[in-house]
Amino acid sequence: MKIMKFGGTSVGRPERMHQVKDLIIADDEKKIVVLSALSGTTNALVGIGEALAEGKKDKARQKIEALQEHYTNFYMELLTTKASRSKAVQIIKEHFEFLNIILKISFNEAINKDILAQGELLSTKLFYTLLQELEIPAVFLPALEFMSIDENDEPELSRIRERLEAIMARYPEDSIFITQGYICKNHRNEVDNLKRGGSDYSASLIGAAVSASVVEIWTDIDGMHNNDPRIVEQTRPIAHLSFDEAAELAYFGAKILHPASIWPAQLHNVPVKLLNTMAPEAAGTTITGAGEGTVGVKAIAGKDGITALKIKSSRMLLAYGFLRKVFEIFEKYRTSIDMITTSEVAISLTLDDVTHLKEITAELQKLGKVEVDHHLSIICIVGNTIMEEPGVLNKIMGSLEQFPLRMVSYGGSRHNVSILIDGKHKELALKRLNQGLFDFE
Ligand code: ASP
Ligand code: MG
Repeated sequence: MKIMKFGGTSVGRPERMHQVKDLIIADDEKKIVVLSALSGTTNALVGIGEALAEGKKDKARQKIEALQEHYTNFYMELLTTKASRSKAVQIIKEHFEFLNIILKISFNEAINKDILAQGELLSTKLFYTLLQELEIPAVFLPALEFMSIDENDEPELSRIRERLEAIMARYPEDSIFITQGYICKNHRNEVDNLKRGGSDYSASLIGAAVSASVVEIWTDIDGMHNNDPRIVEQTRPIAHLSFDEAAELAYFGAKILHPASIWPAQLHNVPVKLLNTMAPEAAGTTITGAGEGTVGVKAIAGKDGITALKIKSSRMLLAYGFLRKVFEIFEKYRTSIDMITTSEVAISLTLDDVTHLKEITAELQKLGKVEVDHHLSIICIVGNTIMEEPGVLNKIMGSLEQFPLRMVSYGGSRHNVSILIDGKHKELALKRLNQGLFDFE
């Protein structure tokens, strides 16, 4: 059995949904198809939630109306028969009635999660209606019946597996299953989600849960590229990545894959393929455990919006336990650190989540003098055994010689060098590294 996940742009237009249909019937393998919301929908739902949180009901109502109109146009183009169109009308009515009821009740975070769930519910139901219209046998598999997170918002993989196995056992003869990405139930049994971009994570969790042959992530680009194609002109798709390399790239800026989606696949050794709905014959990128043996720099990624903290303290000199005290503060505020470098009297580290920056800084000040820098970027250079390769570090430093480097992290793993620079230099730094590290004829 395989998993096929289609992102927002792949289902975002009626004709694209038809392409998705072609792709899922192209072979006979049993498959679970995971769909995102139509592109733009989750953003619109976030906007509705924000308007309600601010008490701006009229603004929320307008946004709901605009979204409803979008869906009304969408189904008219998607479906042709009277029967399926009237099904679509029912679906749209049900979900927009729900949104309109929310306008009348008092808003809270649990309701906001319900609002956010509407996108994936709508896309899967409309797609399922299309399959029915075309008489393609398929089973509708509500994600809220099996996908769940615990009190720390972590997916409950073994429970997901048990529930999915039980549900799938009811349909031994069926080969196409349609489900929602992103949405889940939390430990209070309320509707929740796996955070923005979480449909990839859903697909990989499902893949791990059913021990799939492959998790296919279908997007609008032909795989992960060796550099950011939005910034650098000459980039190319990478044919093969190891799970570790892909995790670094996904985390440090390659927007194509949700970074959390690597671990379930890696844990259960399920290959992940990044494929292009618009060019299905393109090879894309294959991510497997077997990629560990390859050598050389594979890719560069850049991540913006980084904040650096420097903690200076003479008490650190010859002391032990200092790092623990620093890390405990970050643990307390559930804030993860990306890069870290130390000297005998100072530690520098970086964050991308600054929700608790104030509290963290206040507590760190008890340990030493704290400096905070904003608007930085991490440039991450990824490839197995990068460290063992002669000359790679020289090439990296040579390519970046015109930029002041704020931090360098080298040796943390065998497949990554990370460099912190001022955000304003990021684009040029990516271009220089492209010239310095890759040969393009
Ligand atoms: N629809 C959700 C989002 O836009 C989940 C996803 O597409 O992966 O974040
Ligand atoms: Mg995505």
